Amino acid sequence: MASEKEAALSATPSDAPTIFDKIISKEIPSTVVYEDDKVLAFRDITPQGPVHILLIPKVRDGLTGLSKAEERHIDILGRLLYTAKLVAKQEGLDDGFRIVINDGPQGCQSVYHIHVHLIGGRQMNWPPG
Ligand code: IMP
Repeated sequence: MASEKEAALSATPSDAPTIFDKIISKEIPSTVVYEDDKVLAFRDITPQGPVHILLIPKVRDGLTGLSKAEERHIDILGRLLYTAKLVAKQEGLDDGFRIVINDGPQGCQSVYHIHVHLIGGRQMNWPPG
């Protein structure tokens, strides 16, 4: 299986549908931990910690990555972060957690539907790799 870095470097930044569309439509199964009309949160298939959850907007609306954000996305960006805090609480991450948004090839982004990684349950290090 390709490493996350290999997957990111071979991914083509584009507006094409992604695997996350199939997760939203439930065509592909996922372990959903939170859902409302705007946000879906599910467990990452390759967890980087005891807890690793992805939070995505149900409607991408051009937001393939953070670098494509426009003013109309301010509400959903805030909602993703606020929901991450709610899910962190729900997951019992009371001692802290890490939020990551990878952007573009150098940022190691492999899926071009914006997503917030919520990782926790272990001691993090700095700087990230
Ligand atoms: P990125 O590298 O920041 O784009 O993150 C994409 C994430 O999606 C990676 O952490 C992958 O493990 C995760 N991922 C890819 N396919 C699936 C899936 O089918 N279910 C859950 N997570 C997935």
